[in-house]
Amino acid sequence: MRHVAIVGSGPAGYYTAEALQKAGDIAIDVIDRLPVPYGLIRTGVAPDHQSIKAVSRRYEGVALTDNVRFVGHVAVGSDVTIDELTALYDAVVLATGAPNDRPLDIPGADLPGVIGSAAFVGWYNGHPDFAALNPPLDTAGVAVIGNGNVALDVARILAKTPQEFAGSDIVAHARAQLATSAVRHIHILGRRGPHQIAMTPKELGELAHLERASPRVDPADLPPEGDDALLEPGMRKSVTHLRSFAANPVAKPVTIDFDFFAMPVAIEGESKAQRVIVERTRLNDDLRSHGTGETYAIDAGLVVSCIGYQTPPIPGVPYEHGRGRFASDEGRILPGLYCVGWARRGPSGTIGTNKPDGARIAELVLDDVGRGAGKAGRPGLDALLASRGVAPVTFADWRRIEAAEVAAALDGNPREKFTSVEAMLEAIGR
Ligand code: NAP
Repeated sequence: MRHVAIVGSGPAGYYTAEALQKAGDIAIDVIDRLPVPYGLIRTGVAPDHQSIKAVSRRYEGVALTDNVRFVGHVAVGSDVTIDELTALYDAVVLATGAPNDRPLDIPGADLPGVIGSAAFVGWYNGHPDFAALNPPLDTAGVAVIGNGNVALDVARILAKTPQEFAGSDIVAHARAQLATSAVRHIHILGRRGPHQIAMTPKELGELAHLERASPRVDPADLPPEGDDALLEPGMRKSVTHLRSFAANPVAKPVTIDFDFFAMPVAIEGESKAQRVIVERTRLNDDLRSHGTGETYAIDAGLVVSCIGYQTPPIPGVPYEHGRGRFASDEGRILPGLYCVGWARRGPSGTIGTNKPDGARIAELVLDDVGRGAGKAGRPGLDALLASRGVAPVTFADWRRIEAAEVAAALDGNPREKFTSVEAMLEAIGR
């Protein structure tokens, strides 16, 4: 029997488990520090994007196969170390994602009211680490920094009416706070131009259909239309949306302004964020932005920085600091230790990108592990955790938590999530 531990139960973890379990004679433990599975699907994907979240049914199918086991509420690093796992299992695959924000390195970034997207997204998605965030929504102006899909998620969630959350699983504390929000002017700041965005067409197109908010683009920021022909088809569609926002300004009470060629250089305010100082930029020949020295200010009591994520380093595990991910040779970190998904590639691509990634890492693992080295595997982990008084949450336990969340849902919503580890454990009688 071969024994594999996968650390992290998000998309990369379950796609790797799915590919590995087809090998038959193999026992796979999927370990997560939370008592609930699915990582980014549960706490990253926007609550009003239920069709994307539906992929968790596929991971459930994997979790329910005989050779895959969910080991929840076990923190690697404190309940068990990486060294202990590599001693117990033939292979350990780090599928820990990239849950930390890339730091926004400008003066004033530490003022209250400046929030990283990991925290903001975690807040509206009910991640226990961020349930108490209480972002300042008593402000008319908000700056959302970055031109990726996370910036779009954040702007859209801030702009929606309570009715527009029908059918979503946005958590009660976010629903309540957003319902009384004073936010009226949202600026999405991109340090480069419309042809350099990292936003996908479907997500951009949604902004045109918001009840009380309208997207606005300054026509002067758009390159000549003929240049769009040089873009790949997805980008061309995205830029077509921007052109349509520029051509059809609609008056609605909430505005979502795309500020292109706009680089935040400082955040100012009396003991909290009140305004963002933005420097206008131009693009160099290599399409990088550089400042022009001309600045303007945006009133913003809330600044959400959506400039990408990092994988948290683990002591003793080689790490690429510049890229914010583990250092690996195509997924091989050290003998017996692998990484997959955002922990391997960095935070890029869609949920689906993790499927081929998981398949490739599974292949490497199976090649390296051969028939297995007779390691202790599951029983060894169970004995170690029991000796420390750690009782893992099983997949059957999770299904009871899930049933309680479904039972608590508002009419038409899929679930009302528990937002603390204590409440999750209480739901299974602990
Ligand atoms: P992203 O796509 O990498 O975008 C990050 C943005 O931040 C870029 O526009 C980047 O601009 C900008 N940026 C970086 N450093 C900056 C700085 N110091 N100052 C100002 N701007 C800065 O990252 P993301 O939005 O976090 O998304 C992560 C991944 O998740 C992406 O693959 C995304 O597509 C995916 N995602 C998908 C969905 C969906 O499909 N619905 C939803 C959410 C996320 P430059 O280009 O100039 O570096």
